[in-house]
Amino acid sequence: MKYISTRGASAPVGFTEALLAGLAPDGGLYAPRSWPRLTHAEIAAFANAPYAQVAADIFAIFAGDEIPYDVLHELCTEAYATFSHAAVAPLKQLAPGRFMLELFHGPTLAFKDVAMQMLGRLYDHALARQDRSLTIVCATSGDTGGAAVEAFAGRASARIVALFPEGRISDVQRRFMTTATAANVRAVAVAGDFDDCQAILKQMFADQTFARAVDLSAVNSINFARIVAQSVYYFTAAASLGAPDRPVSFVVPTGNFGDAYAGFAAKTMGLPIERILVATNGNDIMARALETGHYRRGEAVATQSPAMDIQVASNFERLFFEASGRDGAATAAAFTSFTSTGSLVIPPEMLASMRELFSGVAISEAQTVRSMLATLSMTGELVDPHTAVALAGLSTAWPEPQAAPLITLSTAHAAKFPEAVLAATGVTPTAPRASLALADRPERFDRLPADVEAVKAYVREFAAT
Ligand SMILES: *Cc1c(COP(=O)(O)O)cnc(C)c1O
Repeated sequence: MKYISTRGASAPVGFTEALLAGLAPDGGLYAPRSWPRLTHAEIAAFANAPYAQVAADIFAIFAGDEIPYDVLHELCTEAYATFSHAAVAPLKQLAPGRFMLELFHGPTLAFKDVAMQMLGRLYDHALARQDRSLTIVCATSGDTGGAAVEAFAGRASARIVALFPEGRISDVQRRFMTTATAANVRAVAVAGDFDDCQAILKQMFADQTFARAVDLSAVNSINFARIVAQSVYYFTAAASLGAPDRPVSFVVPTGNFGDAYAGFAAKTMGLPIERILVATNGNDIMARALETGHYRRGEAVATQSPAMDIQVASNFERLFFEASGRDGAATAAAFTSFTSTGSLVIPPEMLASMRELFSGVAISEAQTVRSMLATLSMTGELVDPHTAVALAGLSTAWPEPQAAPLITLSTAHAAKFPEAVLAATGVTPTAPRASLALADRPERFDRLPADVEAVKAYVREFAAT
């Protein structure tokens, strides 16, 4: 399997190269040259299979002959053994026809662990053979950083710098990064918002001399291997509710559009997904784009669901590329211009094709609070604010039962956002083992201005140690 850039100007690469590079040299994102399709029988067989096996089967399709199946199976088994639930991603019923897919049983209590635990192991496997060590710079809206630190701490294959927006993430989110003691980990508070952190990362990649000098790598959701890992739970959840014989729909709390795009990937691979509803908080660029056809950057506002305080949904470029009929030149033109103007008008026929699968809804802070409270009183479940955004989106868009079962992705454990959950419900979520010890450990992090040159100098110095 080869991977091509959404901007059409980079040479196709294999799975390992797409994995290690993250972003393509022309500034585009990698997508498979052609989408694989699973058979009816293959999807049906996922219904009762162990999660790690489904993951290995799907990774095997994308890794092609670059990684042997038994190695993939071992990496998946190890990765998902770090989860505290035997099902890895259990499905819980909330109401007739309504289900919640719990993706937060990993080491840092958010769904980012599902992909990151695999990425850490894939990097080690790929780089052990190349005898290289990379510098991973990770821009985080809160959860990716902790998951990446947890997945890469102490590994020989990489050193990692986690850039987080100072004061914009929860204490628990921060502590997953700042209490790491491994010498290959650095946490950096940037004086700016997530979009600043992500822009700095993209500029570092654009400076190819710098990128080569430090062997720069990205594990943000632009990394295609993360999309592969995240497509797995769409299959396991749908198959356990009767797919491929019965179609299902998903509700996805959205920031960078990575998780929602993984649903698009699953659908393109043959999973009968009827609709995907993307739910945003007040940072509603994706909801607005799907509603109006105008993808336009706004000012990021701080909310109770900080992992979605994002105004540039990087993975949207992948959907645009597909909807354009995989026109690299058109995608390059649209997103180069978006970078400078902050605005992009989606051509009507492309918008129509996106809307065949996706619709969007934006949820206010007050609705998020009401959603946490209503979920607790109607189901006994204490949900985190990101999940609450999705559940509010569900009741706004689909108040009545639908023919297809509705599966809402629950992306974080309530204990990762205890202040917001307590304020909304009056109940303090019980912390599972992973976060118990965090509060007692000393924190260690550096502070930098939202300035690419300052961050480059810092990364250069770290890479030389
Ligand atoms: C990252 C994150 C999201 C958003 O996921 P995207 O792939 O960026 O759309 C939602 N909820 C939580 C808890 C997250 O950490």
